Amino acid sequence: MSSGGYTLNTMDELNELQTKLTWYENRIKELVGEATNVKDFVENTAMPLHWVDAEGIIIWANQAELSLLGYAKEEYIGFHIRNFHEDEHTINDILTKLTNDEVLQNYPARLKCKDGLIKQVLITSNVFRENGKFVHTRCSTVDITDIIYATNLAGIKRAEEQSARLSAIIESTDDAIISKTLNGIITSWNHSAERTFGYKADEMIGQSILKLIPDDRLEEEPKILSRLRNGERVEHFETKRMRKDGSQLDVSLTISPVKDVRGNIIGLSKIARDITEKKQEENRKNDFVAMVSHELKTPLTSITAYLQMVLRKLSKENNSFEIGALTRAELQTRKMAAMIHDFLSLAKIEDGKIQMNKEDFELHPLIEEIAGDAQFLSTLHTVKLLDCEDIVLHGDRNKIGQVLTNLLSNAIKYSPNGGTIVMGCQKANGSVKIYVSDQGVGISPAHQKRLFERFYRVNNEQIKAISGFGIGLYLITEILRYHQSEIHVESEEGKGSTFYFNMPIKSNQDN
Ligand code: ADP
Repeated sequence: MSSGGYTLNTMDELNELQTKLTWYENRIKELVGEATNVKDFVENTAMPLHWVDAEGIIIWANQAELSLLGYAKEEYIGFHIRNFHEDEHTINDILTKLTNDEVLQNYPARLKCKDGLIKQVLITSNVFRENGKFVHTRCSTVDITDIIYATNLAGIKRAEEQSARLSAIIESTDDAIISKTLNGIITSWNHSAERTFGYKADEMIGQSILKLIPDDRLEEEPKILSRLRNGERVEHFETKRMRKDGSQLDVSLTISPVKDVRGNIIGLSKIARDITEKKQEENRKNDFVAMVSHELKTPLTSITAYLQMVLRKLSKENNSFEIGALTRAELQTRKMAAMIHDFLSLAKIEDGKIQMNKEDFELHPLIEEIAGDAQFLSTLHTVKLLDCEDIVLHGDRNKIGQVLTNLLSNAIKYSPNGGTIVMGCQKANGSVKIYVSDQGVGISPAHQKRLFERFYRVNNEQIKAISGFGIGLYLITEILRYHQSEIHVESEEGKGSTFYFNMPIKSNQDN
């Protein structure tokens, strides 16, 4: 018997064939069932899935994908995937990577929903190829919008808690804490600022910080601001500020720049500590120093006068030993007189009682006087005057004289081996740079920064034996501050130093 291609020889063979047919039938049913299940799974799983062809066109998307973004099938399938990404650069990068057969794992992207909202997602994708040809991508999308939102909320909450803690500290501290813009407009004002200055927060927020600065210190603010703009902090700057009732108080200011996350300076924070009591204590000490110095000055003046009288008499008689001894004694009294003079000036400055008697005066005769007096101090040094003729300045002649005297006596003191000292002037653009330079021990950069502090002295072997109190340069700084000028130093250890300051020229014969 023949049937199709098979020749059945026995009943056994027929049965065997029957069994095989049944098995195939069942297997086909199973496979169709499996395929239906897989199809159902990919269509209806909660995981958003889609395919994109080699041109970037969406060719298939499941229900979860459509509901993630809120589109109907016909609004999504057939469109370029770029339409649904917020950032073109991201989707271009995704497509390039897939074309180059890279597998994307949790690639962050921002998708545009139909309602205009943005969903933050992580995309995982690879490419299905047939005979090496790009057929479509296999993309799955995880929505992390809620997680990010929750994380941000937690961040905001933490920041709020932190800021509440900081506010509590700021409100309970004894120091006045003020924040202001770079233009000096006050943006916050704590309780202690109210107590210290007498103004309520609503009277000061939005106002200029200049309201607190006494007229004679207005020039401080631009200087402080320029230091802060360079990113520097201003620490323990002692000055005076004004209360609402017009009275003044002594404050120590620490001011720091406030920066945003990118490091740009967006404002300033200022801590003002009331140091009136400390200052009163210092004033009592100053009064004492002033009194002692004053009392010492009177007998010293008469000792100097007697010495000079005796010296004149002896020089007529040509009595060389006594002349030598008394000349040295006179030099020492001059030094002592200069120190006492500095102490008296210090006490006056600290008390704010220093008086400036400003007038127009010629610089050259003053420099000549000072250089002439210095002849008594040293025979080792040569003092040269350079280019200071025909310059008229406006200022307190005696005080500027004190500045130059201190600079010259330092140049002599700190050049123990002698050398040439130049007191000179350089004119430029209506002002003059007045300098004193020496060939002495010099000053290291670390010390240069602190030289102008009150009582600061360099402590090293070389100058241990040279006497001094560390007030000369501080006095110079203060006197020049009253003349809107500043002292500067350029120095190299072992080579020498140049101290200089600038003053406007009132007039000179060249102009
Ligand atoms: P004093 O000389 O009484 O110590 P100053 O205030 O005049 O006080 O000077 C402070 C310090 O600066 C000095 O102790 C010294 O170390 C240093 N100094 C000042 N002038 C010079 C100079 N021309 N050369 C080297 N060091 C100097």
